[in-house]
Amino acid sequence: MKNLVIFGAPGSGKGTQSDLLVAKYGFRHISTGDVLRAEIKQGTELGRTAQQFIDKGQLIPDELMIEILASVYDSLCPCEGVIFDGFPRTIPQAEALKKMLAERGHSVAAMIELYAPEDILMARLLNRGKEQGRSDDNEETINKRLAVYHTQTAPLIDWYKAEGLHHYVKSYGVLEEIFADVCKVIDSL
Ligand code: AMP
Repeated sequence: MKNLVIFGAPGSGKGTQSDLLVAKYGFRHISTGDVLRAEIKQGTELGRTAQQFIDKGQLIPDELMIEILASVYDSLCPCEGVIFDGFPRTIPQAEALKKMLAERGHSVAAMIELYAPEDILMARLLNRGKEQGRSDDNEETINKRLAVYHTQTAPLIDWYKAEGLHHYVKSYGVLEEIFADVCKVIDSL
């Protein structure tokens, strides 16, 4: 079983690469952003709470996210492996993920950091906003999300380096080449 953390700033291509990985390897995929957007659509209490944070470009509190993640994980496994997309986003979330998996005799096999420069991230997100109408893909909220990424999420790069699990992939240029680089990491595990 290969559990993978697909990591990167908003717009770095986590969702795109996850879809390709699901098709190639048969992994299950947990996008915490998708889980929250589904709750919003269904009008649940969790959805109403989540919306307030998402619209401000802020992170949902760790305790809430950790609880959601464990229940989604248990609903998908046993399986070939899970791609964690958009989780963890803070060091407490990474610690909780490690603990949650260890309690089940599982672990993270690799963290793959997708890197793209900020101007490319901004262009991709503005384009997605136009195409998909995501409420948080407007310039003001994108800037807040990028700032949150730098302060709260990017420190996870060093955290995963210390765990010996960090892998870097350049995530701009030709899509097929990016995916091939991601696959190289997975095939080497
Ligand atoms: P995403 O689709 O991954 O870009 O997530 C969209 C929004 O959902 C984020 O800007 C956060 O407000 C919220 N969110 C998604 N995943 C998490 C997480 N792991 N921790 C906290 N908030 C999250």
